[in-house]
Amino acid sequence: MSVLVFVEGLNGEIKKSSLEAASYGGQIAKQLGTTATAVAIGEVHEDALTKLGEQGINKVLYDADDRLKQFVADAYVKVIAKAAQQEDAKVLVFSNTNIGAAVGSKLAVRLSGSLATNVTALPTINGNNFVVTRGVFSGKAFADVELSSDVKIIAVKKNSIEIAHEGGSATVEKLSADLADADFAAAPKETVMQDTDGGVLLPEAEVVVSGGRGLKGPENWHLVEDLAKALGAATACSKPVSDMDWRPHHEHVGQTGITVSPNLYIAIGISGAIQHLAGVNSSKVIVVINKDPEAPFFKAADYGIVGDAFEVVPKLIEAAKALDK
Ligand code: FAD
Repeated sequence: MSVLVFVEGLNGEIKKSSLEAASYGGQIAKQLGTTATAVAIGEVHEDALTKLGEQGINKVLYDADDRLKQFVADAYVKVIAKAAQQEDAKVLVFSNTNIGAAVGSKLAVRLSGSLATNVTALPTINGNNFVVTRGVFSGKAFADVELSSDVKIIAVKKNSIEIAHEGGSATVEKLSADLADADFAAAPKETVMQDTDGGVLLPEAEVVVSGGRGLKGPENWHLVEDLAKALGAATACSKPVSDMDWRPHHEHVGQTGITVSPNLYIAIGISGAIQHLAGVNSSKVIVVINKDPEAPFFKAADYGIVGDAFEVVPKLIEAAKALDK
């Protein structure tokens, strides 16, 4: 019996969220006294694969089929299921990304496993039972759930687990899942990677500067853009802002938009409605700038500035530029 971690690549590297999942899987393997294998799909550099050893991964199985360069749920599920079967894996771990969510439920059906998504901590292991904590109600509460099937599938919430750096390197082996054309029957025609003004992909960004209706109109967005540029950040916005076409829809974060999990999220003139918080509450540090001291966002903030954005943000931009010098 072993642990299998599904890791996602981006531009040849392993995504940060997958390094967190690998660390999680590595720690479970240690707890169980077994090995951890990773399965990588798509374009990932070989040295990025061997470096997964630092997260406690012993071996990486890699399927380099060209057709897997873009995400196709059925084909990805087949590859992961093949790796699970080959390694006799009873614990499957991946990150709770859009791709993770898409493969998780299909894998649970295929392998007759129990699935827990949005998991925020390592399990308590009691024989064949795992108890894991998961975020529920848009992160407002936590629930402990028991996974009792033979196969346990865990999707780890971004930014919940520290990335391990323990040294060591993983061996890399080719994997072939004998994919047929039928596995690609529902493939996207084209994948467009939409970066924001700073050239940073929003879901992967380490720093996000986000604006809300408090900024009054699109003519004032230079405040968000200039601060983002000075910090090397991606830009984002609240839903009403994109509904009013002040900003493109791909920048809208929240329950009905993109989920971000940066190290730093700066919210300018955003009230902090629960639907907005649902998309940002796995950020490590949240800074809120709002002129209303009663704005709900302050309750979720690590740092709050009560003040007029039109006075505060230019000073922040100056300070950030000075840091750069
Ligand atoms: P407002 O609520 O108008 O807040 C503006 C804030 O700016 C206020 O707090 C105000 O004090 C502050 N302000 C005003 N002037 C200044 C100034 N000069 N300086 C500093 N601060 C200032 N919203 C999302 O964002 N994402 C979602 O995914 C989402 N999904 C939804 C799904 C559903 C089903 C529903 C019903 C709603 C959803 N919403 C979503 C909308 C959400 O409920 C809020 O209405 C929205 O987030 C509010 O946007 P806002 O904070 O920009 O605007």
